[in-house]
Amino acid sequence: MLRAMFTFFYLSININVTRILVQKKKFAYHYIMKYELETIPVWDSFEKNTECPLCFLYKKVEKGFIQFFLGGSVMQPHIRGKVNKLGFCPQHLNMLYTGGNKLGLALMTHTNIKYCIKILEDMEKKMLPNKWETIPSNKFKKGIAREQLNKYISLLKSFSPTCYCCEKLKIALRHYAYTIVHLWKKEPQFKKMLSNSKGFCFSHTGDIMEMVVEVLSGKEKNSFLLEFIKLQKNNTLRLEHDILWYIQKFDHKNKDKPWKNSKDALPRTIQKLSGNEFK
Ligand SMILES: [Zn+2]
Ligand SMILES: [Zn+2]
Repeated sequence: MLRAMFTFFYLSININVTRILVQKKKFAYHYIMKYELETIPVWDSFEKNTECPLCFLYKKVEKGFIQFFLGGSVMQPHIRGKVNKLGFCPQHLNMLYTGGNKLGLALMTHTNIKYCIKILEDMEKKMLPNKWETIPSNKFKKGIAREQLNKYISLLKSFSPTCYCCEKLKIALRHYAYTIVHLWKKEPQFKKMLSNSKGFCFSHTGDIMEMVVEVLSGKEKNSFLLEFIKLQKNNTLRLEHDILWYIQKFDHKNKDKPWKNSKDALPRTIQKLSGNEFK
């Protein structure tokens, strides 16, 4: 009896240990596969010494993606399929429009408009006139027609705010954020470069912190965040100083005084706050 209990106990421990090991292995595999290291572009972006290296990379990758969408990808059915589903946001449509391939863009928009006609036809078929009457006005009240209508409303509303290009950029930025955290951990020279940099815009500060929480262990996480918050604070104070002098320069008493570092303080502050590069 005792032996049976012991065997059962031993087996259950063994099974649990194996399960944990498999989970760990899976996690390690997932972890390796999830992010790619992009060390050269990251080093380059820090050498530019701007208000945010991730904004610099964003703009660079964004230009590349616009070229990609206006290039051979226009003819690839799976890319057109994705464009149909995710569309393009106003900013990226503008960039595509002025990107030098009107025919390519017209081909893409034609497929896209055909996809939209299909949605409308589908709505027409499913939402027969008598069904519209049964839709409760209170959005919390359930009903098949209400659910169908909600599905179409969210499908239509998803057309504008984000897009296929935005999605691709988001993924690229995750790889860069991962590379920054990785280089901080592995390369003392990079760690020094980061601590001497101008920090990041606020939105990308959040992205870096999110990555730190995801990939660093307790002690490292703490050490990174302490240094990082200090870096952000010092750089925000620097900008506050610059923008204040920029404001004071409007006072006629200061008209002939030197600009110091404040001549471009307004676009730099806007970039820090919004992530938008103003030239
Ligand atoms: Zn940024
Ligand atoms: Zn977009």
